[in-house]
Amino acid sequence: MAERGGSGRKGSRPEGWTRVVRARSAVGRTHPVTDTPAQTVTPSFRSDVTVELVKHTAADSDVLWAARVSTAGEQSLEELQKDPERSKGLINYLMRDRHGSPFEHNSMTFFISAPILVFREFMRHRVGWSYNEESGRYRELEPVFYVPGQDRKLVQEGRPGKYVFVDGSPEQHKVVSDAMIDSYRRSYETYQEMLAAGIAREVARSVLPVGLFSSMYATCNARSLMHFLGLRTQHEQAKVPSFPQREIEMVGEKMEREWARLMPLTYAAFNANGRIAP
Ligand SMILES: Cc1cc2nc3c(=O)[nH]c(=O)nc-3n(C[C@H](O)[C@H](O)[C@H](O)COP(=O)(O)OP(=O)(O)OC[C@H]3O[C@@H](n4cnc5c(N)ncnc54)[C@H](O)[C@@H]3O)c2cc1C
Repeated sequence: MAERGGSGRKGSRPEGWTRVVRARSAVGRTHPVTDTPAQTVTPSFRSDVTVELVKHTAADSDVLWAARVSTAGEQSLEELQKDPERSKGLINYLMRDRHGSPFEHNSMTFFISAPILVFREFMRHRVGWSYNEESGRYRELEPVFYVPGQDRKLVQEGRPGKYVFVDGSPEQHKVVSDAMIDSYRRSYETYQEMLAAGIAREVARSVLPVGLFSSMYATCNARSLMHFLGLRTQHEQAKVPSFPQREIEMVGEKMEREWARLMPLTYAAFNANGRIAP
């Protein structure tokens, strides 16, 4: 399913989006609120995620420069780029022998918009990562929700520790979409009712589900990204298979594409050595 309704990108509410300012409370009264004119917010539903590389200083030459200081002292980057075959060999050797620190002298900042359930898994990655996520205390959260697309496998088969996911039937997809959309709408209405009754955002947000989209900046280096990709993607060249949730894998795949473009030699060495972070 393609994007339905909104972009999920916060701060720019699409044309026609509006906000409830007079809502019925649980006991049936209506509450005036100190906000803009009476309008209604329309939830939107997405089955994709956003990953944008917003800032970077990341190149294969950063790895070479850091590695060669141990044998050659300081050198100019131009000097290092003169012999591509030697550079490729050195990067491969560092990756193979898990000499990891030369892969840390670079930086990539991503803007990510994804359901909260993805961020909950993402932020378990502690080392070599910095995060800043939008606040549900300082701003009203927008009603953008995750609904799995038609290509999302829906059914788990097999025993714990050894299972596979298989396609859902059209009927199962309908069950999922209908149930999620109904539940999302009701929880967001409740959220808005509380805000309209003067309840603080930090209290009212408790009713919102983990399918709500959030956004964050995540900054990492090639080494921490490789560790993340080794755990959060599935790949035919992986020596140690992982079984990530599909939604975090969708984010990982988009990050991987950006990184591969910036550091092609490092990326090739990562794959050639079984996608195990050095
Ligand atoms: C498929 C999958 C299923 C998962 N299921 C669950 C689950 O059911 N419940 C759950 O709670 N988590 C789960 N996790 C999260 C998982 O346990 C890790 O927290 C997460 O993958 C981050 O990995 P990490 O700790 O290696 O990464 P980072 O935090 O980035 O750490 C990187 C590396 O630094 C070292 N390191 C970091 N912190 C320490 C430390 N305190 N002590 C020693 N060494 C350290 C380790 O070598 C570590 O690999 C799951 C992860 C995956 C990929």
